Amino acid sequence: MSTLDANWFTEIHQDAGSAFSLRIRRKLADERTPYQHIEVFETTDFGNFMVIDGCTMVTARENFVYHEMMTHPVLYTHAAPRDVLIIGGGDCGTLREVLRHPEVASAVQVEIDERVTRLAEQYFPELCELNHDPRATLIFGDGIQWVKDAPASSLDVVIIDSTDPVGPAEGLFSRPFYADCLRVLRAGGMIVQQSESPLLHLKILRDMHSAMRDAGYADVRTLHFPQMIYPSGWWSATVARKGEKIEGLREVDVAARPFETKYYNADIHRAAFVLPTFLREALA
Ligand code: SAM
Repeated sequence: MSTLDANWFTEIHQDAGSAFSLRIRRKLADERTPYQHIEVFETTDFGNFMVIDGCTMVTARENFVYHEMMTHPVLYTHAAPRDVLIIGGGDCGTLREVLRHPEVASAVQVEIDERVTRLAEQYFPELCELNHDPRATLIFGDGIQWVKDAPASSLDVVIIDSTDPVGPAEGLFSRPFYADCLRVLRAGGMIVQQSESPLLHLKILRDMHSAMRDAGYADVRTLHFPQMIYPSGWWSATVARKGEKIEGLREVDVAARPFETKYYNADIHRAAFVLPTFLREALA
């Protein structure tokens, strides 16, 4: 079939000359908030599906890859991740994965748009199942300002689970923001940020690496994973560490983890940091 009828949602990636579609059954929600346009659909094959400003965000069926890779590689590299901050992440899937770690004592999520979380509670209840964990705090506000105001050396891990670098998320991809994150991290602390497609967004990745290095992190590394619903179907996350190399996978703890993962394991952890030649050269 070469054309799509009205039962398909299509995200057109103009710059890349490509598009991605999912077959939908019906629209469940359509809201314009002060920050963005949020839509939720029921699909025929991928469960419920959230779209923000026309960009695919989450489906019930395949979000596990993204949420596991935004959390477990960093949480199993840090020796003792007690205090975790999530910026964005309003669907709460990242928060759920963070809270699966018994060593985490507190997880604060700062999401700018409360409606993303309220719609996730309604249409993605499985992602929100740990929102009432006593270790979790949900704040609705600007993550950039929150980090500016946070005390120095108060966090072990900062996870930036944001939308693309436009609108309210633009400042989350900047050197001053990375410098503020460095200040709030304890020694050996780590940040991880979704860093777009290795194939389509190499400039964003390179700029992110140089901005993180300029901000003073001792080591910056990118990991990658398949993500069917995002442009090119191939996605990345970039990790930076305060004062130390990004190494020290707690392999024994991964093997003994008291929760199930569908994508992440110790072999995937190691493999995800192995870069193809063009990416290795671009980020050298
Ligand atoms: N997994 C998704 C992806 O990579 O496409 C991102 C998911 S999540 C829904 C992204 C969230 O970041 C959105 O809900 C958006 O409201 C939030 N966000 C954007 N800028 C923000 C900021 N400055 N502070 C806090 N949250 C922000």
